[in-house]
Amino acid sequence: MLPAFAYARPRDLAEAVRELASPGAHLHAGGTDLLGCLRDGVFAAEKVVSLRRVAEGREIAATPEGGLRLGALVPIAEIAASPLVRERFRGLAQAAGDVASPQLRNQGTLGGNLCQRPRCWYYRGEFACLKKGGDLCSALDGENRYHAIFGGGPCFIVHPSDTAPMLVAFDATLRLLGPGGERQLPLGEFFQLPTANLAGENALAAGELVAEVEVPDRSGWKSSYRKVRERGAWDFALTSVALALRREGATVAEARVVLGGVAPIPWRSEAAEARLVGRALDSGTARDAAAAAAEGAEPLSQNGYKVALVRGAVEESLLAFAAG
Ligand SMILES: Cc1cc2nc3c(=O)[nH]c(=O)nc-3n(C[C@H](O)[C@H](O)[C@H](O)COP(=O)(O)OP(=O)(O)OC[C@H]3O[C@@H](n4cnc5c(N)ncnc54)[C@H](O)[C@@H]3O)c2cc1C
Ligand code: SF4
Repeated sequence: MLPAFAYARPRDLAEAVRELASPGAHLHAGGTDLLGCLRDGVFAAEKVVSLRRVAEGREIAATPEGGLRLGALVPIAEIAASPLVRERFRGLAQAAGDVASPQLRNQGTLGGNLCQRPRCWYYRGEFACLKKGGDLCSALDGENRYHAIFGGGPCFIVHPSDTAPMLVAFDATLRLLGPGGERQLPLGEFFQLPTANLAGENALAAGELVAEVEVPDRSGWKSSYRKVRERGAWDFALTSVALALRREGATVAEARVVLGGVAPIPWRSEAAEARLVGRALDSGTARDAAAAAAEGAEPLSQNGYKVALVRGAVEESLLAFAAG
């Protein structure tokens, strides 16, 4: 059962920011993640601020500069189905289409997808682990097959979002609204490692919310999102690869390789990108870049398999580009 909390239903984002200012207030967008957390006592809310009646932030639009603007309240299903996204930002449509199930994609929003809490089963269960203010990380010597192989410590969560790695690969920027007004933040700087922020996962200040995501013009680029999961039905990524490449003739001129499901943040592999730029995209280049993407991995006792998964998924994604 859900514990009792106060409930606010603002009519716009400015009013939502005012409501969020009270201690213990949490935003409710689609609620697909929040309500489970409250029901299971992962954290408590004094007040829930529902965005249900807010009309703004529900649009997908092209920008005059050739980019894309997505409101934080756009349902994930609309991103997957949008002709504009499918045509010009294909990897994002693929990532959105890979989120959860059709029902959850209809209910869940982009802002909620980026700000959802981690799925570590100790965090979600009745364990006072480090992230919940306890003394130790239960995953370190426990069941850690779904945990981080990059960037972990002292907490080893993986970031669960499918849209986040692709949006980082597109160099997207967030528009944040808070008590101090508005600010822009590159999405790559939004997500934070546990060493910087153990209790949270991102740079949202108290009372701040995500209003909008802007993707720059990516004409001339190709993109893809490949998700490896344990089951064919809805499931979080064991690993995923968000790829965005621009070629000049046969040569890769610019590249972004961002991994999901393997680190507490979407994990950009600059080592893999460096093995792509300036080279023709053939099987040798794909193999080198894939090996580079797996470099520096530090698996825990049960998740060494993810190193091979990263290598395989990156190589497959690049070979699909080379063939197409
Ligand atoms: C069974 C199941 C399977 C799932 N599978 C996947 C999956 O495969 N891939 C994946 O990516 N996700 C998955 N999810 C996670 C997630 O619920 C959805 O992806 C969804 O997009 C979350 O959006 P929401 O609007 O429902 O978020 P909510 O539940 O409303 O919010 C989630 C969190 O974000 C905060 N928040 C919401 N909107 C904003 C905003 N605009 N600004 C700041 N903070 C905000 C809330 O306060 C809350 O803490 C799954 C969830 C479930 C229950
Ligand atoms: S990985 Fe993080 S969330 Fe999970 S048990 Fe360890 S400290 Fe807690």
